[in-house]
Amino acid sequence: MDTIVLKFGGSSVSDNLNLNIVAQKIIEFKQKGNNVICVVSAQGKMTDNLIKEAKELSAIPDERELDALLSTGEQISASKLAILLNMLGYKAISLTGWQAGILTNSEYQSSKILDINVSRINKELQENKIVVITGFQGVDKKNNITTLGRGGSDTTAVAVAAAIKAKHCYIFSDVDGIYTADPRDVKLAHKLNSISYEEMSYISGEGAKVLHDRCVELAEKYNMPIIAASTFNKNKGTKICNSEQIKKSENSVESHDKSNMEETIIKSIIKNDNIIYIEIENYDNPYNLITTLVENNIKIGQYFIKNTKIAFTINKIDRAKVQKILDEIDKETKVIPVTKISIVGSGISNHTEIIKNVLESFYDIKNDIIDIDISACKISVLFNKIIDIKYLNELHNKIIEKN
Ligand code: ADP
Ligand code: ASP
Ligand code: MG
Repeated sequence: MDTIVLKFGGSSVSDNLNLNIVAQKIIEFKQKGNNVICVVSAQGKMTDNLIKEAKELSAIPDERELDALLSTGEQISASKLAILLNMLGYKAISLTGWQAGILTNSEYQSSKILDINVSRINKELQENKIVVITGFQGVDKKNNITTLGRGGSDTTAVAVAAAIKAKHCYIFSDVDGIYTADPRDVKLAHKLNSISYEEMSYISGEGAKVLHDRCVELAEKYNMPIIAASTFNKNKGTKICNSEQIKKSENSVESHDKSNMEETIIKSIIKNDNIIYIEIENYDNPYNLITTLVENNIKIGQYFIKNTKIAFTINKIDRAKVQKILDEIDKETKVIPVTKISIVGSGISNHTEIIKNVLESFYDIKNDIIDIDISACKISVLFNKIIDIKYLNELHNKIIEKN
């Protein structure tokens, strides 16, 4: 009997109607004779709302208490789904992160999973139950509730799949796979049949919301294939797996159709405007500042130092934490919202024609470019303002559609 993990995100479990669609999908997998574990996110915008409410009470909420609050969102969706499955005649049990044995470190709001004690999950599976686990959370060694960071239910799903040695981890959302760009922004984006862990890791790392970056890292580490597919249709999704498996499927007759994007080097274009750029003048201790930011678990993107000027990018979500650190150094800081457009594809830096096309696409806004970063798997262009999606569409047209 195969064990599979099915993860459903916030839009998939947003209301009773969608919970019924999710339940039918789960039942299909169960009826095929699988052991089924589901991992769910909070319903709709519940986590956003809980954060907003906490911030109405305190600008920088106590980190431990914030995690205790945020974890409740997933508890609601998991228990509702288990209630529904039981009513439909399928034995189901909801487990919170800690009941499911998920042990994390104590970095509130961005905890890392240290270990999963799967004995409880196994016991419930042996009793033929569908196990519904709350995504995004665990417990630290002192029994404090922790959360894994925004979008972290994907990481819970892959971690559970790896710990239980599942066959596959399905990640269901409102989109039926991984596209060459966010299909909300680029209507002509194509769906990929498959993509390697490494390339997917860059796509997530550059800010594409579709999969949590740490879930891809984990999938690669444990060679756990992920299938990204839609909750709302039966279309074939995108398989995220190792390059060897992709090569095998490329040799099959089926994959040689015209829309197979694996035949081009570029896999996806990512527009990320969830970042801000911070610039400090006349500061003679940049090394210390960066060390402090890193020690406080702040993820730094690009980083520039010129004489006594220091600049760096951070995720918007860390703004309040960073501001607290900057207030202590008492220097004038400039904070601007920026956009980063990244093009991901293995070996991309060897293709000068792609770099040329990227530069041509941004000719009109060339004066807004702060930085261009080229590495083996990606080209990133950082702009000093929010860029209109028309540039993303033009770039997609030039480097993907015309390929
Ligand atoms: P969930 O709430 O189920 O976790 P997310 O909203 O986190 O789902 O992720 C799905 C969204 O990711 C899609 O609605 C889509 O707009 C966005 N997205 C961004 N980049 C891509 C991409 N390259 N391919 C597919 N979807 C993408
Ligand atoms: N509910 C959490 C969030 O909104 C985790 C997740 O959806 O994966 O970030
Ligand atoms: Mg998500």
